[in-house]
Amino acid sequence: MTVLRKNLIDGEWLGEAGSRNINPSNTNDIVGEYASAGPEQAKQAIAAAKAAFPAWSRSGPLARHAVLKKTSDEIMARKDEIGRSLAREEGKTLAEGVGETIRAAQIFDFFAGETLRLSGEMVPSVRPGVGVEMTREGVGVVGIITPWNFPIAIPAWKVAPALAYGNTIVFKPAELVPESAWTIVDILHRAGLPKGVLNLVMGKGSVVGQAMLDDPDVNAISFTGSVGTGKRVAAASVEHMRKFQLEMGGKNPLVVLDDADLAVAVDCAVNGAYFSTGQRCTASSRLIVADGIHDRFVDAIKERLDKLVIGDALDAKTQIGPVVDQTQLKQDEDYIAIGRQEGAELAFGGDRLERGAPGFYLQPALFVGSTNAMRISREEIFGPVANVIRVKDYDEALAVANDTPFGLTSGICTTSLKHATHFKRNSEAGMVMVNLPTAGVDFHVPFGGRKGSSYGPREQGRYAMEFYTTVKTAYTFAG
Ligand code: ADP
Repeated sequence: MTVLRKNLIDGEWLGEAGSRNINPSNTNDIVGEYASAGPEQAKQAIAAAKAAFPAWSRSGPLARHAVLKKTSDEIMARKDEIGRSLAREEGKTLAEGVGETIRAAQIFDFFAGETLRLSGEMVPSVRPGVGVEMTREGVGVVGIITPWNFPIAIPAWKVAPALAYGNTIVFKPAELVPESAWTIVDILHRAGLPKGVLNLVMGKGSVVGQAMLDDPDVNAISFTGSVGTGKRVAAASVEHMRKFQLEMGGKNPLVVLDDADLAVAVDCAVNGAYFSTGQRCTASSRLIVADGIHDRFVDAIKERLDKLVIGDALDAKTQIGPVVDQTQLKQDEDYIAIGRQEGAELAFGGDRLERGAPGFYLQPALFVGSTNAMRISREEIFGPVANVIRVKDYDEALAVANDTPFGLTSGICTTSLKHATHFKRNSEAGMVMVNLPTAGVDFHVPFGGRKGSSYGPREQGRYAMEFYTTVKTAYTFAG
């Protein structure tokens, strides 16, 4: 029997059955049932967060530290159970699910520490006898809207700093992964958050998400998701003169030069392009490969892809799980068809796979002979699909890497210090990797991109403070 998971509004679990959560590895498996909030619940949640803000923003570091530390400890203690449930609802492998859960625990631990490290500055004024203090305060009610591909890490890296810096929250997770979101809200609630400080409103983006965008009492919105929705968040936020932060797509290049260590380059490409079923905004979807290594690289990748175990996310042997749902699967298949129509050669995979149970299994796909002008090179596919673009040398590789509307991550595989250094300086991406996959980042340093990938201050690490606080400058004349 499935338990109904409810929304948390002003400290009360509320709501009726709304939607079912399906396991993408086995569509006969119902993960759970979840209440679906409407505009009225969103309004109540925002009002509750507004009422809770004055007390929480003045609560001091110890109260916030206690809740965040306790949350981190419980997530870590339950990592296997939560990681398994995450893999079951999203379709990433068990190892990835547990790894992501550990990451969430580390993030809560980091921001527990940040509550004790918050500092300001004090300087003499230009006017004799006057002192100037610069301090940071919480922004107010923060709306948090998250996508399905990192069901626990992304909520953690928005919720933890929002709370640490004294904000109150209305949190709307993606419809496809409510269980992971509900789990961290339940843990935070039991860890002792005062009522109204954190509110959970599960439901449709077009309904409950839109109600958040349209409410003038939401003082800031942190959003991760598609470019289309990001633009709506931006337009609505400008209308209400509120702070906003967007993390959207990527079309991340991995450059492989002739002097690269082939084994390293293949590891980076296979991990970056296909792990987590390619459903990462940091995935390496464009493999930009120099002439001299091109054929060896393509052969080695095909050999690796052939050996990958694609199957049920909950099977410990699985290396790549299913695509998250039918809509995403169709998008992946449509792009594979588009690549062929555009004249790229499908060198490996791209077919639907049958496994023991009905699920959204897709063989990783590799295109060769593609150009950077093709749609498969310019538009984010968000699946296990990558294409190789052949270039003559480093200069052409850098130009192709930067020729994209996006700018989240980029990577280069080379043993040349000169090219690695030049690439780090000249790549138009927010995060640059040398001899590492474009996906896979640390939790204590800034995360974010440029151009069409991101807008606003960086997330994660100490830099998260920029978004979740506002600066106050106070002058005192002591006589
Ligand atoms: P994806 O294609 O990855 O699902 P979306 O941008 O559609 O990306 O979804 C990311 C998040 O934005 C989800 O939580 C979704 O429910 C929410 N969302 C979708 N439409 C809206 C909207 N009009 N207003 C606010 N949030 C929305």
